[in-house]
Amino acid sequence: MPEGLVLVVEDDAAIADLVQRYLLRDGFGVHVETDGARALAAVRTLRPAAVVLDVGLPTMDGIEICRTLRTAGDWTPILFVTARDDEVDRVLGLELGADDYVTKPFSPRELVARVRTVLRRGPAAVAEVLEVGRTRVDVTQRRVWADAAEVALTATEFDLLAQLMRRPRQVFERRQLLSAVWGYSVTGTRTVDVHVAQLRAKLGDASPIRTVRGIGYAADPS
Ligand code: CA
Repeated sequence: MPEGLVLVVEDDAAIADLVQRYLLRDGFGVHVETDGARALAAVRTLRPAAVVLDVGLPTMDGIEICRTLRTAGDWTPILFVTARDDEVDRVLGLELGADDYVTKPFSPRELVARVRTVLRRGPAAVAEVLEVGRTRVDVTQRRVWADAAEVALTATEFDLLAQLMRRPRQVFERRQLLSAVWGYSVTGTRTVDVHVAQLRAKLGDASPIRTVRGIGYAADPS
């Protein structure tokens, strides 16, 4: 019986191999990614039970990956892998669910034991339900209702809606939404408009999203 899937995000192939070998031996499924954008995509599509996350990664570091996930309401348990003391400080300074960490060089057995510990603790979040006007979002279960009817959203549509609804009435610029929801460089702010249009089509009259001309969007109670 598999123990669940662990996403290992590590750009050092030798370390990734070692960690993978030990996790597999212990009965876990393992998926390896080497950069932040692909790691975020893998969390969304594969829904791993836990993430082993190297802090020192090219382009987007582990801290930024964690922050992006937590901002989007994703509380998958994370075990950080740090290389230096200053990285440990940054991980401990995170208010965003640094579940645990190991420091390089680590013993693979210890790492596997820590993975078991973060899994036992489960997701760091308590239930989070957002309600703005006639739209309700259960962030923990990733479910959305417009009036009383449940609406099926894509992962990105969901993240965008939750981002707006966490701070009712706050006006978000398109580029703020891009970095909060997509978390990494995408082609342009037009992406935000396209997803807002899709959300409005799905939520219908109950949509709380207001266009703020020349700036961006906000979620309004009425
Ligand atoms: Ca690294």
